[in-house]
Amino acid sequence: MSTPKRVAVIGVGTMGSQTMWRLAARGAEVIGYDRYAPGHDRGAAGGETRIFRAAHLGEPGYIPLLRLADRLWDRLQRETGCPLRRRSGCLVMGEATAPSMRLLLSSSATHRLDHEVLDREDLARRYPQHRLPEGHTAVLDRMGAIIRPEASIQAAAGRAEQLGARLHRYTTVRDVAPAAGGGVDIVTDHGTDHVDAAVVTVGPWINTLLPDLPRTVDVRRLISSWHIPTRHDWFAGGAPAFVRSTPHDCYGLPSPDGISVKLGLSLARYLPVPDPERLDRTVRPEELDLFRELIAELMPDLNPDPIRLSVYMEGYTENGNPLVGHLPGEDDIVVMAGFSGSGFKLSPAMGEIAADFALDGVTEHPVDFLAPAAVGAV
Ligand SMILES: Cc1cc2nc3c(=O)[nH]c(=O)nc-3n(C[C@H](O)[C@H](O)[C@H](O)COP(=O)(O)OP(=O)(O)OC[C@H]3O[C@@H](n4cnc5c(N)ncnc54)[C@H](O)[C@@H]3O)c2cc1C
Repeated sequence: MSTPKRVAVIGVGTMGSQTMWRLAARGAEVIGYDRYAPGHDRGAAGGETRIFRAAHLGEPGYIPLLRLADRLWDRLQRETGCPLRRRSGCLVMGEATAPSMRLLLSSSATHRLDHEVLDREDLARRYPQHRLPEGHTAVLDRMGAIIRPEASIQAAAGRAEQLGARLHRYTTVRDVAPAAGGGVDIVTDHGTDHVDAAVVTVGPWINTLLPDLPRTVDVRRLISSWHIPTRHDWFAGGAPAFVRSTPHDCYGLPSPDGISVKLGLSLARYLPVPDPERLDRTVRPEELDLFRELIAELMPDLNPDPIRLSVYMEGYTENGNPLVGHLPGEDDIVVMAGFSGSGFKLSPAMGEIAADFALDGVTEHPVDFLAPAAVGAV
Protein backbone atom coordinates (compact mmCIF):
# COMPACT_ATOMS: atom_id res chain seq x y z
CA MET A 1 0.00 0.00 0.00
CA SER A 2 1.38 3.45 -0.88
CA THR A 3 1.84 6.11 1.84
CA PRO A 4 -1.02 8.61 1.88
CA LYS A 5 -0.21 12.03 0.52
CA ARG A 6 0.30 14.67 3.22
CA VAL A 7 -1.70 17.79 2.36
CA ALA A 8 -1.95 21.11 4.23
CA VAL A 9 -5.12 23.19 4.05
CA ILE A 10 -4.43 26.79 4.98
CA GLY A 11 -7.55 28.60 6.16
CA VAL A 12 -10.37 26.39 7.45
CA GLY A 13 -13.32 28.63 6.58
CA THR A 14 -15.84 28.05 3.80
CA MET A 15 -13.59 26.47 1.16
CA GLY A 16 -10.96 25.06 3.52
CA SER A 17 -13.39 23.06 5.68
CA GLN A 18 -14.90 21.41 2.60
CA THR A 19 -11.44 20.75 1.17
CA MET A 20 -10.40 19.05 4.41
CA TRP A 21 -13.53 16.89 4.31
CA ARG A 22 -13.01 15.78 0.70
CA LEU A 23 -9.26 15.14 1.20
CA ALA A 24 -9.84 13.13 4.39
CA ALA A 25 -12.62 11.14 2.70
CA ARG A 26 -10.10 10.15 0.03
CA GLY A 27 -7.54 8.88 2.53
CA ALA A 28 -5.08 11.77 2.50
CA GLU A 29 -3.18 12.78 5.63
CA VAL A 30 -4.71 16.22 6.15
CA ILE A 31 -3.41 19.07 8.31
CA GLY A 32 -5.60 22.18 8.56
CA TYR A 33 -4.56 25.57 9.93
CA ASP A 34 -6.82 28.47 10.84
CA ARG A 35 -5.98 31.82 12.42
CA TYR A 36 -9.25 31.44 14.39
CA ALA A 37 -11.47 28.32 14.60
CA PRO A 38 -14.09 26.83 12.23
CA GLY A 39 -17.38 28.74 12.20
CA HIS A 40 -16.04 32.19 13.24
CA ASP A 41 -17.54 35.36 11.73
CA ARG A 42 -14.47 37.47 10.96
CA GLY A 43 -14.03 36.63 7.27
CA ALA A 44 -16.40 35.86 4.39
CA ALA A 45 -18.69 33.46 6.25
CA GLY A 46 -21.09 34.14 9.14
CA GLY A 47 -24.47 35.81 9.48
CA GLU A 48 -26.54 32.60 9.69
CA THR A 49 -27.62 32.26 6.05
CA ARG A 50 -26.33 31.99 2.47
CA ILE A 51 -28.30 31.56 -0.76
CA PHE A 52 -27.99 28.42 -2.88
CA ARG A 53 -29.36 28.80 -6.39
CA ALA A 54 -29.05 26.71 -9.50
CA ALA A 55 -28.60 29.57 -11.95
CA HIS A 56 -25.47 31.39 -10.83
CA LEU A 57 -24.36 34.74 -12.31
CA GLY A 58 -26.13 33.65 -15.49
CA GLU A 59 -22.86 31.88 -16.44
CA PRO A 60 -23.59 28.38 -17.82
CA GLY A 61 -20.06 27.20 -16.89
CA TYR A 62 -21.18 27.05 -13.27
CA ILE A 63 -24.12 24.72 -13.83
CA PRO A 64 -22.18 21.40 -13.64
CA LEU A 65 -20.33 22.74 -10.60
CA LEU A 66 -23.62 23.66 -8.93
CA ARG A 67 -25.02 20.21 -9.63
CA LEU A 68 -21.90 18.66 -8.05
CA ALA A 69 -22.21 21.03 -5.09
CA ASP A 70 -25.89 20.13 -4.73
CA ARG A 71 -25.07 16.41 -4.45
CA LEU A 72 -22.25 17.03 -2.00
CA TRP A 73 -24.39 19.30 0.21
CA ASP A 74 -26.83 16.39 0.54
CA ARG A 75 -23.98 14.01 1.28
CA LEU A 76 -22.43 16.22 3.98
CA GLN A 77 -25.85 16.56 5.54
CA ARG A 78 -26.33 12.76 5.49
CA GLU A 79 -22.86 11.98 6.83
CA THR A 80 -23.07 14.45 9.71
CA GLY A 81 -26.81 14.35 10.44
CA CYS A 82 -26.77 18.19 10.61
CA PRO A 83 -29.54 20.23 8.92
CA LEU A 84 -27.38 22.45 6.70
CA ARG A 85 -29.79 23.50 3.91
CA ARG A 86 -33.49 24.25 3.64
CA ARG A 87 -35.04 23.98 0.15
CA SER A 88 -36.75 27.35 0.30
CA GLY A 89 -36.54 28.14 -3.41
CA CYS A 90 -35.01 31.42 -4.59
CA LEU A 91 -36.91 34.27 -6.24
CA VAL A 92 -34.90 36.23 -8.78
CA MET A 93 -36.55 39.53 -9.71
CA GLY A 94 -35.63 42.15 -12.29
CA GLU A 95 -36.61 44.02 -15.42
CA ALA A 96 -38.05 41.52 -17.91
CA THR A 97 -35.91 42.96 -20.74
CA ALA A 98 -32.63 43.20 -18.75
CA PRO A 99 -29.80 41.06 -20.22
CA SER A 100 -29.27 39.33 -16.85
CA MET A 101 -32.94 38.25 -16.65
CA ARG A 102 -32.93 37.08 -20.29
CA LEU A 103 -29.77 35.06 -19.67
CA LEU A 104 -31.24 33.57 -16.52
CA LEU A 105 -34.38 32.52 -18.37
CA SER A 106 -32.57 31.08 -21.37
CA SER A 107 -29.99 29.15 -19.32
CA SER A 108 -32.72 27.84 -16.97
CA ALA A 109 -34.62 26.53 -20.01
CA THR A 110 -31.57 25.13 -21.84
CA HIS A 111 -30.25 23.33 -18.78
CA ARG A 112 -33.72 22.21 -17.67
CA LEU A 113 -33.38 23.84 -14.27
CA ASP A 114 -36.54 23.44 -12.23
CA HIS A 115 -37.99 26.95 -12.36
CA GLU A 116 -41.20 28.92 -12.75
CA VAL A 117 -41.81 32.38 -14.23
CA LEU A 118 -44.15 34.64 -12.23
CA ASP A 119 -45.70 37.88 -13.47
CA ARG A 120 -46.73 40.78 -11.21
CA GLU A 121 -50.15 39.30 -10.42
CA ASP A 122 -48.72 35.83 -9.64
CA LEU A 123 -46.12 37.36 -7.37
CA ALA A 124 -48.63 39.60 -5.57
CA ARG A 125 -50.83 36.56 -4.90
CA ARG A 126 -48.12 34.10 -3.84
CA TYR A 127 -45.47 36.34 -2.31
CA PRO A 128 -47.23 39.56 -1.22
CA GLN A 129 -44.18 40.49 0.87
CA HIS A 130 -42.44 41.57 -2.38
CA ARG A 131 -43.44 44.46 -4.70
CA LEU A 132 -42.71 44.10 -8.41
CA PRO A 133 -42.56 47.34 -10.45
CA GLU A 134 -44.23 47.58 -13.89
CA GLY A 135 -42.19 45.75 -16.57
CA HIS A 136 -40.45 43.50 -14.04
CA THR A 137 -40.65 39.75 -13.78
CA ALA A 138 -39.81 37.07 -11.20
CA VAL A 139 -38.28 33.62 -11.66
CA LEU A 140 -38.70 31.07 -8.88
CA ASP A 141 -35.64 28.78 -8.87
CA ARG A 142 -37.05 25.68 -7.21
CA MET A 143 -33.57 24.23 -6.52
CA GLY A 144 -32.91 27.38 -4.50
CA ALA A 145 -32.14 26.85 -0.82
CA ILE A 146 -30.93 28.58 2.31
CA ILE A 147 -27.62 27.27 3.68
CA ARG A 148 -26.43 27.72 7.26
CA PRO A 149 -22.81 28.88 6.89
CA GLU A 150 -21.43 28.49 10.42
CA ALA A 151 -23.02 25.04 10.85
CA SER A 152 -21.74 23.94 7.43
CA ILE A 153 -18.15 24.94 8.16
CA GLN A 154 -18.22 23.22 11.54
CA ALA A 155 -19.87 20.12 10.05
CA ALA A 156 -17.32 19.79 7.22
CA ALA A 157 -14.31 20.44 9.49
CA GLY A 158 -15.72 18.12 12.17
CA ARG A 159 -16.35 15.35 9.65
CA ALA A 160 -12.77 15.74 8.37
CA GLU A 161 -11.44 15.40 11.93
CA GLN A 162 -13.61 12.30 12.43
CA LEU A 163 -11.99 10.86 9.31
CA GLY A 164 -8.53 11.46 10.77
CA ALA A 165 -7.61 15.03 9.73
CA ARG A 166 -5.70 17.23 12.20
CA LEU A 167 -6.66 20.86 12.67
CA HIS A 168 -4.45 23.56 14.21
CA ARG A 169 -6.87 26.17 15.58
CA TYR A 170 -5.68 29.73 16.32
CA THR A 171 -2.57 29.09 14.23
CA THR A 172 -1.73 31.69 11.60
CA VAL A 173 0.31 30.52 8.63
CA ARG A 174 3.00 33.12 7.89
CA ASP A 175 4.43 31.62 4.71
CA VAL A 176 3.78 28.86 2.15
CA ALA A 177 6.92 28.12 0.16
CA PRO A 178 7.94 25.42 -2.33
CA ALA A 179 10.58 23.24 -0.60
CA ALA A 180 13.99 22.66 -2.21
CA GLY A 181 13.56 18.88 -2.61
CA GLY A 182 9.87 19.04 -3.64
CA GLY A 183 6.71 19.52 -1.62
CA VAL A 184 5.85 22.62 0.36
CA ASP A 185 6.98 24.22 3.64
CA ILE A 186 4.25 25.67 5.87
CA VAL A 187 5.63 28.28 8.27
CA THR A 188 3.77 29.19 11.48
CA ASP A 189 4.90 30.86 14.72
CA HIS A 190 5.45 27.35 16.11
CA GLY A 191 7.80 26.11 13.39
CA THR A 192 7.80 24.71 9.84
CA ASP A 193 5.83 21.67 8.63
CA HIS A 194 6.73 19.88 5.43
CA VAL A 195 3.89 18.52 3.26
CA ASP A 196 3.53 17.03 -0.23
CA ALA A 197 0.98 19.64 -1.33
CA ALA A 198 -0.82 22.69 0.05
CA VAL A 199 -4.25 24.17 -0.64
CA VAL A 200 -4.49 27.88 0.17
CA THR A 201 -8.04 28.91 1.13
CA VAL A 202 -7.50 32.04 3.22
CA GLY A 203 -10.41 34.01 1.71
CA PRO A 204 -10.15 37.76 2.35
CA TRP A 205 -6.57 37.33 3.66
CA ILE A 206 -5.33 36.10 0.27
CA ASN A 207 -3.28 39.23 -0.51
CA THR A 208 -1.52 39.01 2.87
CA LEU A 209 -0.38 35.41 2.36
CA LEU A 210 0.07 35.42 -1.45
CA PRO A 211 0.73 39.04 -2.46
CA ASP A 212 1.79 38.14 -6.04
CA LEU A 213 -1.33 36.49 -7.43
CA PRO A 214 -1.64 36.56 -11.23
CA ARG A 215 -5.09 38.18 -10.96
CA THR A 216 -6.17 40.94 -8.59
CA VAL A 217 -8.46 40.06 -5.69
CA ASP A 218 -10.05 43.23 -4.39
CA VAL A 219 -11.18 42.77 -0.76
CA ARG A 220 -14.38 44.61 0.19
CA ARG A 221 -16.45 45.27 3.32
CA LEU A 222 -20.06 43.99 3.26
CA ILE A 223 -22.89 44.95 5.61
CA SER A 224 -25.73 42.58 6.53
CA SER A 225 -28.84 44.13 8.08
CA TRP A 226 -31.66 42.21 9.84
CA HIS A 227 -35.28 43.54 9.83
CA ILE A 228 -38.47 42.40 11.55
CA PRO A 229 -41.60 42.10 9.35
CA THR A 230 -44.58 44.22 10.29
CA ARG A 231 -47.08 41.75 8.79
CA HIS A 232 -47.60 38.42 10.49
CA ASP A 233 -47.63 36.35 7.27
CA TRP A 234 -44.28 37.54 5.88
CA PHE A 235 -42.83 34.05 6.15
CA ALA A 236 -45.83 32.40 4.47
CA GLY A 237 -45.49 30.59 1.12
CA GLY A 238 -42.26 28.81 2.08
CA ALA A 239 -40.37 32.13 2.46
CA PRO A 240 -37.91 31.82 -0.43
CA ALA A 241 -34.56 33.60 -0.49
CA PHE A 242 -34.53 36.44 -3.03
CA VAL A 243 -32.22 38.37 -5.33
CA ARG A 244 -33.14 41.63 -7.11
CA SER A 245 -31.21 43.53 -9.77
CA THR A 246 -33.35 46.66 -10.29
CA PRO A 247 -34.36 49.22 -9.09
CA HIS A 248 -32.07 48.14 -6.21
CA ASP A 249 -29.34 45.57 -6.57
CA CYS A 250 -29.88 43.57 -3.38
CA TYR A 251 -30.66 40.17 -1.87
CA GLY A 252 -32.38 38.83 1.19
CA LEU A 253 -33.02 35.75 3.28
CA PRO A 254 -35.59 34.94 5.92
CA SER A 255 -33.72 34.03 9.13
CA PRO A 256 -33.88 30.38 10.25
CA ASP A 257 -35.48 31.46 13.55
CA GLY A 258 -38.44 32.99 11.65
CA ILE A 259 -37.96 36.33 13.41
CA SER A 260 -36.32 38.59 10.85
CA VAL A 261 -35.19 39.00 7.24
CA LYS A 262 -31.53 39.58 6.44
CA LEU A 263 -30.76 42.07 3.64
CA GLY A 264 -27.56 42.81 1.72
CA LEU A 265 -26.59 45.19 -1.10
CA SER A 266 -24.58 44.82 -4.29
CA LEU A 267 -20.82 45.09 -4.76
CA ALA A 268 -20.92 48.71 -5.95
CA ARG A 269 -21.80 49.74 -2.38
CA TYR A 270 -18.94 47.98 -0.61
CA LEU A 271 -15.91 49.87 0.69
CA PRO A 272 -12.37 48.50 0.13
CA VAL A 273 -10.60 46.72 3.02
CA PRO A 274 -6.90 47.71 3.01
CA ASP A 275 -6.04 45.34 5.92
CA PRO A 276 -8.31 42.38 6.80
CA GLU A 277 -6.99 42.42 10.39
CA ARG A 278 -8.31 45.97 10.81
CA LEU A 279 -11.81 45.62 9.36
CA ASP A 280 -14.04 48.54 10.39
CA ARG A 281 -17.03 46.80 12.00
CA THR A 282 -18.91 50.00 12.86
CA VAL A 283 -21.88 50.74 10.59
CA ARG A 284 -22.56 54.47 10.29
CA PRO A 285 -26.20 55.71 10.15
CA GLU A 286 -25.76 57.02 6.59
CA GLU A 287 -24.77 53.52 5.46
CA LEU A 288 -28.34 52.46 6.25
CA ASP A 289 -29.98 54.97 3.86
CA LEU A 290 -30.02 52.53 0.95
CA PHE A 291 -31.51 49.77 3.07
CA ARG A 292 -34.31 52.19 4.06
CA GLU A 293 -34.90 53.16 0.43
CA LEU A 294 -35.16 49.62 -0.85
CA ILE A 295 -37.43 48.58 2.02
CA ALA A 296 -39.77 51.52 1.33
CA GLU A 297 -39.90 50.77 -2.37
CA LEU A 298 -39.80 46.98 -2.59
CA MET A 299 -40.61 45.47 0.82
CA PRO A 300 -42.68 47.99 2.79
CA ASP A 301 -43.79 45.27 5.22
CA LEU A 302 -40.34 45.19 6.82
CA ASN A 303 -39.47 47.56 9.66
CA PRO A 304 -36.64 49.78 8.29
CA ASP A 305 -34.94 49.97 11.72
CA PRO A 306 -32.53 47.03 11.84
CA ILE A 307 -32.43 44.75 14.88
CA ARG A 308 -28.92 43.61 14.05
CA LEU A 309 -26.05 44.77 11.82
CA SER A 310 -22.90 42.81 10.98
CA VAL A 311 -19.88 43.44 8.81
CA TYR A 312 -17.97 40.82 6.78
CA MET A 313 -15.32 40.73 4.05
CA GLU A 314 -15.12 39.08 0.64
CA GLY A 315 -12.61 39.07 -2.26
CA TYR A 316 -13.76 40.21 -5.73
CA THR A 317 -12.06 39.59 -9.08
CA GLU A 318 -12.49 41.79 -12.11
CA ASN A 319 -14.65 39.32 -14.06
CA GLY A 320 -16.40 37.86 -11.00
CA ASN A 321 -14.85 34.41 -11.49
CA PRO A 322 -12.73 33.00 -8.64
CA LEU A 323 -9.17 31.68 -8.95
CA VAL A 324 -9.30 27.87 -8.71
CA GLY A 325 -6.28 25.67 -9.51
CA HIS A 326 -2.51 25.46 -9.21
CA LEU A 327 -0.58 28.65 -8.69
CA PRO A 328 1.15 29.23 -12.05
CA GLY A 329 4.54 27.44 -11.98
CA GLU A 330 3.82 25.66 -8.66
CA ASP A 331 2.72 22.02 -9.07
CA ASP A 332 2.25 21.51 -5.32
CA ILE A 333 0.35 24.68 -4.36
CA VAL A 334 -3.36 24.99 -5.11
CA VAL A 335 -5.21 28.25 -4.58
CA MET A 336 -8.92 29.01 -4.26
CA ALA A 337 -9.75 32.69 -3.78
CA GLY A 338 -11.85 35.64 -4.92
CA PHE A 339 -15.32 34.10 -4.81
CA SER A 340 -16.91 37.52 -5.42
CA GLY A 341 -19.89 37.26 -3.08
CA SER A 342 -21.25 34.01 -4.44
CA GLY A 343 -18.93 31.18 -3.42
CA PHE A 344 -20.70 29.61 -0.48
CA LYS A 345 -23.14 27.53 -2.52
CA LEU A 346 -20.24 26.10 -4.55
CA SER A 347 -18.00 25.27 -1.60
CA PRO A 348 -18.37 21.46 -1.42
CA ALA A 349 -17.70 21.25 -5.16
CA MET A 350 -14.66 23.48 -4.69
CA GLY A 351 -13.46 21.17 -1.89
CA GLU A 352 -13.74 18.16 -4.19
CA ILE A 353 -11.89 19.96 -6.99
CA ALA A 354 -9.13 21.16 -4.65
CA ALA A 355 -8.72 17.55 -3.47
CA ASP A 356 -8.38 16.44 -7.13
CA PHE A 357 -5.67 19.03 -7.79
CA ALA A 358 -3.79 18.28 -4.56
CA LEU A 359 -3.90 14.47 -4.88
CA ASP A 360 -3.94 13.84 -8.66
CA GLY A 361 -2.58 17.10 -10.09
CA VAL A 362 -5.67 17.44 -12.35
CA THR A 363 -9.45 17.42 -12.15
CA GLU A 364 -12.11 16.07 -14.48
CA HIS A 365 -14.50 18.82 -13.44
CA PRO A 366 -14.85 21.69 -15.94
CA VAL A 367 -12.93 24.49 -14.18
CA ASP A 368 -10.47 25.61 -16.86
CA PHE A 369 -12.38 28.89 -17.04
CA LEU A 370 -11.43 29.51 -13.38
CA ALA A 371 -7.68 28.84 -13.76
CA PRO A 372 -5.61 31.27 -11.65
CA ALA A 373 -3.50 32.42 -14.63
CA ALA A 374 -4.13 36.02 -15.60
CA VAL A 375 -7.09 36.48 -17.97
CA GLY A 376 -5.73 36.38 -21.50
CA ALA A 377 -2.46 34.69 -20.46
CA VAL A 378 -1.54 31.36 -22.01
C1 LIG B 1 -22.26 39.17 3.60
C2 LIG B 1 -21.99 38.06 2.60
C3 LIG B 1 -23.06 37.44 1.98
C4 LIG B 1 -22.83 36.39 1.08
N1 LIG B 1 -23.90 35.75 0.52
C5 LIG B 1 -23.69 34.64 -0.24
C6 LIG B 1 -24.79 33.87 -0.68
O1 LIG B 1 -25.96 34.18 -0.37
N2 LIG B 1 -24.55 32.76 -1.42
C7 LIG B 1 -23.28 32.36 -1.75
O2 LIG B 1 -23.13 31.35 -2.42
N3 LIG B 1 -22.21 33.11 -1.35
C8 LIG B 1 -22.38 34.22 -0.59
N4 LIG B 1 -21.32 34.93 -0.13
C9 LIG B 1 -19.97 34.55 -0.54
C10 LIG B 1 -19.38 33.43 0.32
O3 LIG B 1 -19.75 33.57 1.67
C11 LIG B 1 -17.88 33.48 0.13
O4 LIG B 1 -17.60 33.37 -1.26
C12 LIG B 1 -17.16 32.38 0.88
O5 LIG B 1 -17.50 32.41 2.24
C13 LIG B 1 -15.64 32.55 0.71
O6 LIG B 1 -15.01 31.52 1.43
P1 LIG B 1 -13.44 31.51 1.70
O7 LIG B 1 -13.13 30.15 2.16
O8 LIG B 1 -12.74 32.07 0.50
O9 LIG B 1 -13.23 32.57 2.90
P2 LIG B 1 -13.51 32.37 4.47
O10 LIG B 1 -14.75 31.60 4.69
O11 LIG B 1 -13.41 33.73 5.09
O12 LIG B 1 -12.31 31.48 4.98
C14 LIG B 1 -10.99 31.94 5.05
C15 LIG B 1 -10.36 31.31 6.29
O13 LIG B 1 -8.96 31.46 6.26
C16 LIG B 1 -8.50 31.73 7.57
N5 LIG B 1 -7.19 32.36 7.44
C17 LIG B 1 -6.92 33.55 6.85
N6 LIG B 1 -5.58 33.78 6.84
C18 LIG B 1 -5.01 32.72 7.43
C19 LIG B 1 -3.66 32.37 7.71
N7 LIG B 1 -2.62 33.15 7.32
N8 LIG B 1 -3.40 31.22 8.39
C20 LIG B 1 -4.43 30.40 8.77
N9 LIG B 1 -5.72 30.70 8.52
C21 LIG B 1 -6.01 31.82 7.84
C22 LIG B 1 -9.59 32.60 8.15
O14 LIG B 1 -9.58 32.60 9.57
C23 LIG B 1 -10.85 31.96 7.58
O15 LIG B 1 -11.35 30.95 8.45
C24 LIG B 1 -21.51 36.01 0.76
C25 LIG B 1 -20.43 36.66 1.36
C26 LIG B 1 -20.65 37.66 2.29
C27 LIG B 1 -19.49 38.32 2.95
